[in-house]
Amino acid sequence: MKNLWSGAEADRLVTHYAQQGHHADVALRVYTSRLLGIEPALVLHGGGNTSVKTRLRDVAGDEVEVLCVKGSGWDMGNIEPAGLPAVRLQPLRRLAALERLSDEDMVNAQRCNLMDASAPNPSVETLLHAFLPHKFIDHTHANAVLALSDQPDGIAICQDLYGNEMAIVDYVMPGFLLAKAAAAAHEQQPGVQGLILHKHGIFSFGETAEEAYERMIRMVTRAEQRIARVSVAVPAAAPVAAAPAADVLPLLRGALAQQLGDGRHQRWIASLRNGPAALAFVGRADLQQAAWSGVITPDHGIRIKNRPLVLSRPQPGALADWEADTAQRLDAYAADYRAYFERQNARVGGGRKQLDALPRVLLVPGVGVVAFGKSKADAEIAADLAETTITTLNWAEAVGRFEPLSEDHLFDMEYWPLEQAKLGKAAEAPLARQVVLVTGGAGAIGAATAKLFARHGAEVVVLDLDGEAAQAVAKSCGRHALGLACDVTDPQAVRAAFDAACLRFGGVDIVVSNAGAAWEGAIATLDDAVLRRSFELNFFSHQGVAQNAVRVMKAQGSGGALLFNVSKQAVNPGANFGAYGTSKAATLLLARQYALEHGADGIRVNAVNADRIRSGLLTEKMIASRASSRGLSEHDYMRGNLLQQEVTAEDVALAFVHQALEMKTTGGVTTVDGGNIAAALR
Ligand SMILES: [Zn+2]
Repeated sequence: MKNLWSGAEADRLVTHYAQQGHHADVALRVYTSRLLGIEPALVLHGGGNTSVKTRLRDVAGDEVEVLCVKGSGWDMGNIEPAGLPAVRLQPLRRLAALERLSDEDMVNAQRCNLMDASAPNPSVETLLHAFLPHKFIDHTHANAVLALSDQPDGIAICQDLYGNEMAIVDYVMPGFLLAKAAAAAHEQQPGVQGLILHKHGIFSFGETAEEAYERMIRMVTRAEQRIARVSVAVPAAAPVAAAPAADVLPLLRGALAQQLGDGRHQRWIASLRNGPAALAFVGRADLQQAAWSGVITPDHGIRIKNRPLVLSRPQPGALADWEADTAQRLDAYAADYRAYFERQNARVGGGRKQLDALPRVLLVPGVGVVAFGKSKADAEIAADLAETTITTLNWAEAVGRFEPLSEDHLFDMEYWPLEQAKLGKAAEAPLARQVVLVTGGAGAIGAATAKLFARHGAEVVVLDLDGEAAQAVAKSCGRHALGLACDVTDPQAVRAAFDAACLRFGGVDIVVSNAGAAWEGAIATLDDAVLRRSFELNFFSHQGVAQNAVRVMKAQGSGGALLFNVSKQAVNPGANFGAYGTSKAATLLLARQYALEHGADGIRVNAVNADRIRSGLLTEKMIASRASSRGLSEHDYMRGNLLQQEVTAEDVALAFVHQALEMKTTGGVTTVDGGNIAAALR
């Protein structure tokens, strides 16, 4: 493992943070925490922690000895001084004399001694940092160390590798007792450079940030070299015939979705990993046994549960059988999880509340590793942990036999309130766990719609003829949104776009079929080609999008919303807009046809009928000419409705969001025009 320390960068951060009033110790603590945090072979997603002991002045001007330790909710890779709350050190050290200390009292003591009452909770491993004397302390869950430690004889292997340079601490759950055990191990071997925490991770110590970091890298490198001596590359899996992932993922999503009543479902967002290592692993003949063994370090359990679910290979053309088999295996998994909970809850004397019995990681031979989360971000975290488990397991098997934490230890961590607190309990946004696909997504209405759905928590797919513009809108919707070029009049392109959405998120729940354009011309003399072109875009493309939407929603079996942008022209024709109005009128009927035929599938189909919106269909130039032909100012022309207010793309977007949330309406039309009795639906 490469040592990334740069003296120049360290100096730069010391200067930078000095300007914000931070001590050099804190700046250097930030620097090497980031160096550790950006290396996925050391820590992932908020794992690990670091600290520095320094002195601060309190508000009265007294100098206080403090421990600046990673705060809960911060990721080392992008930590700031605010992510290293300062805790008075002496009161924490006095706790070392206690025989026992409850979690509640520990957390309370840590919070009561914060220098800043609004700081985040200090790490659950704070006391371990406090009880050791070293100035800088680094802690990671390095894969290479875990591969050696997650073994039946892991302690002996580590003793052999590290001699008396590192003290070994047998597994104790994080918290007060681990802090005591670590302090005792250090007292027996005061000269060590760090600790190996059996089946958990590694600590390194230093008088400077550079020393602690250098020792971490050196000790992890030694573990890597030990593995390299025996490890052989996992042979690439022979390609096996399996159904396409884009067809498989919606079925999996559907299998996991839980009915909430009233047509609502608790859905999950997917992340697929199908690189060579993932495919080789899921192709193993002994997959069930290998995968069943557990998690590599205790804090992974809250994200990927105690075990993944192993599925059978989905054979092309036989997906119905596979779906039935998957449902059975999911039931068996849930039964197994409930039995695990009951057995363990009894062991600890009861009182725990069972978490959901659904897997977070599913292993699908021929397809890959599929992780699920309540958002794309969560699914990615679970997928990263699953992949790092595979790497570590492969290494562990090269060294000996992979044997991670026992079930008892796993349960204690999974059901530890301090660990669950890391997941956060914030209320979910109204469209969280839903995937929306918007066509014409770079236009005024499409972009406003995509952004509003994103603000309501949905995962977003933006399609537009202009791929770059689609990507720009997707970017403004969030890190995980997908922007794709798609000519919606090309059935193959539409199919490919839905496949891409399924591969990215696992499926699609809400489709806003919005792309459209208006051709002008008097109907009696209109060129046929113009009329046909208008029908291609304003009618047939909606049909193609709707067919794909229904295909994916039926595979998921958890309903959905299919929404169309029709126009005022669909019900109230305007002179010279025949090509547009007739095709939009057909699309309004198309919406009702889908509502009629797919209500029983729980697919709600509705349309928005909007008028006079500034967009590609109503340009500033058109507004100027229409206003002057009516003898109105542009201002009055745009407000020519009952409410006398201009109607915007955001207003149309709000109507689509409303339709997506409204569970008991189908076959409906929402008019968004500020009020126009002549154009009112009758
Ligand atoms: Zn840890």
